[in-house]
Amino acid sequence: MNFGLTEEQRMVQKMVRDFSQKEVAPIIQEYDRKQEMAPFILPRMGELGILGICIPEKYSGAGMDYISLGLACEELEAVDTTLRVVMSVHTGLCSMTLWQWGSEEQKQKFLVPLARGDKIGAGAFTEPGAGSDFANIQTTGKRDGEDYILNGEKMWISLASNADYALVTVRTQKDTGKSSGELTSFIVDLSTPGVTRGDIHGKLGVRAGSTGWINFQDVRVPVANRIGEEGEGFKVTMSAFDNGRYTVAAGATGLIRAALEASVNYANERKAFGKPIAQHQLIQSKIAHMALNYEAAQLLYLKAGWMKNEGQRNTKETSAAKWFATEKSFEAANEAIQIHGAYGFSDEYNVERYLRNARGAVIYEGSNEIQQLIQASYALGERQDKALRMEMPAYEE
Ligand SMILES: Cc1cc2nc3c(=O)[nH]c(=O)nc-3n(C[C@H](O)[C@H](O)[C@H](O)COP(=O)(O)OP(=O)(O)OC[C@H]3O[C@@H](n4cnc5c(N)ncnc54)[C@H](O)[C@@H]3O)c2cc1C
Repeated sequence: MNFGLTEEQRMVQKMVRDFSQKEVAPIIQEYDRKQEMAPFILPRMGELGILGICIPEKYSGAGMDYISLGLACEELEAVDTTLRVVMSVHTGLCSMTLWQWGSEEQKQKFLVPLARGDKIGAGAFTEPGAGSDFANIQTTGKRDGEDYILNGEKMWISLASNADYALVTVRTQKDTGKSSGELTSFIVDLSTPGVTRGDIHGKLGVRAGSTGWINFQDVRVPVANRIGEEGEGFKVTMSAFDNGRYTVAAGATGLIRAALEASVNYANERKAFGKPIAQHQLIQSKIAHMALNYEAAQLLYLKAGWMKNEGQRNTKETSAAKWFATEKSFEAANEAIQIHGAYGFSDEYNVERYLRNARGAVIYEGSNEIQQLIQASYALGERQDKALRMEMPAYEE
């Protein structure tokens, strides 16, 4: 067992840390207040190769491994969750699913521009009436010659207003008795006539990024854009979550680290009862919990990343990493506010933004109630992963 990072992984970590700490940290509060994404973020992440970090060079990606993807997400979310959300949806949900399930032609047409950052991707699964109960989605796709015609609405979609393409899962068959077998996935060009979209305003967190809705009214999508077979959409979407959740786990680990660092700095400076509050044992207890949870969250995602590198199925490990890291990141941000006292209640310090941002990750990419059900079903022996028709490729140097 080797717990060390390779030279290459350290380089990625440093490059992403430099980008987020030097270029984004100084301006993020302003954009969080404005509730807008800073316009340079997506082009710059593309230019640095972050958007296609783990996509093979053959498809114009940076050709790094899955652990590098996790390290990048940790560094991004240590500055702001909206940066990591980009990786979750553009890279995790959209690009990596195309890489796993797409045909060679689809990879050349869609994955190459996504990996380069020339095009931006999203993953559109949730609907106004169906989130956790995903098999119950109502957007339809009706076959008409060489097209499918899509009708319905997707809701709470990250990067809805930035994306060029979206991986979209819809219902293509009715009443077969097995609702998960009635779904099919497509890569949809969002400039197609009949697509309308917009942002949701008044969000608690991820304010420096887009979360929105996408409406499909008689949208013609060529059969050539179908990802996987008809009826395979549930499996395609669950594969997408195995990658999206991994980025969420790694990112939430970065948020724990940021809350810890802010707490240590403040606790060493702030004095109460004649000494720095860092010398009060109840404050030390909060800091000790953050430090331990950071280590544990990092080990969980690195193990999942290692399994991905080896080409091993990691649904269970990725779900556990997501559940633990997101729960502990919310806890760390909350305790960081407590350590900052009244100052933590103001946006003069970052910790209030950490708390608002950490809240969403407990809900999205499968709420933590759903992660608990997944863990219980493995533990009770009710669930075993079957081989997929298209497996996620192992890392090849
Ligand atoms: C900031 C943000 C970004 C998002 N980005 C995307 C995106 O890019 N793409 C996308 O498709 N979706 C996205 N989502 C949507 C997200 O995935 C859903 O919100 C999530 O799956 C939960 O669905 P829901 O909100 O409909 O809640 P519901 O499914 O209605 O659940 C409500 C509550 O009931 C609980 N619950 C449901 N079923 C059970 C059960 N069986 N047992 C116990 N408890 C249960 C849930 O855990 C939750 O607490 C995003 C959401 C947010 C907040």
